[in-house]
Amino acid sequence: MRITLAQAMGTCFGVQDAIDMALDPEFRDRLTVVGQLVHNPQTMERLKANGVRIIERDQIATITTKAVMITAHGASDSTKQDLEAQGYTVYDATCPLVIRLHKLARFLQRQGYFPVIVGEASHVEVRGVVGNLSDSLVVNDEEDLSGLVGHSRIGIVSQTTNRLEKVQRIVAKIRALPGVEDVRFIDTICEPVKERQRAIHDLLAQDIDLGIVIGGSNSANTRKLMELIRDKGVEAHHIERAEDLEAAWFAGRQHVGITAGTSTPQDVIESVHAAIRALGAAQRIDQHGR
Ligand code: SF4
Repeated sequence: MRITLAQAMGTCFGVQDAIDMALDPEFRDRLTVVGQLVHNPQTMERLKANGVRIIERDQIATITTKAVMITAHGASDSTKQDLEAQGYTVYDATCPLVIRLHKLARFLQRQGYFPVIVGEASHVEVRGVVGNLSDSLVVNDEEDLSGLVGHSRIGIVSQTTNRLEKVQRIVAKIRALPGVEDVRFIDTICEPVKERQRAIHDLLAQDIDLGIVIGGSNSANTRKLMELIRDKGVEAHHIERAEDLEAAWFAGRQHVGITAGTSTPQDVIESVHAAIRALGAAQRIDQHGR
């Protein structure tokens, strides 16, 4: 059984910078992170072990530290201002590419376009962008397009972790809507995510017959990497750690491709790789009856 690692995978610079900031010894036992810093359970455990407290946005009233951190996914200006008004010192780890998305969404609105964000309305990044706009629509699939009735100038951006093909499909649908006269689309999918998506296409071009995608079960970009593989008719499994692997998935496989979402640490990737190599070796022994 051949095993190929994707050319680009795992933790992106935005997530890594945010983790490094939270793990700074200066913050030990003194920092509260609002929202999931990364969608990865192992990294979250490391942060908790370093005394970093992680809370959800509806738990802000329970903060006991002076230092509060906004995650790589960002937040609306009003969220930051509310925290500062309550006396907290806000450390902003928003990824520069998420800041770019915020700026471009506001730019389109200033230019007179009705802003559309292609993404998941419940995702923290999208909620932050929406919170900075006076009016907008989040579109995740075609059913959401009915919210555009009455708008003729539409400016479109995307959640940074989206699939380009999906966003382009929705942009084309918006252009074709009756009454829509002017559409401006700015591609805000981030380059690290595109690199990971391109690396999947490379794996598929090498005829993998099984994909293993490593990342937190709540990681949107990890789920999208798995969909990319499944859409090509190739079996794929989303796992969080090596212990989630099932030997039966590998029976009779010729070529396994491994990839990982943008929050998955290198040590988790290496342990999964080692476990799959061990499964492949065990199969060879079975096949040869030794
Ligand atoms: S996925 Fe992209 S936008 Fe999000 S933190 Fe990583 S580099 Fe930044």
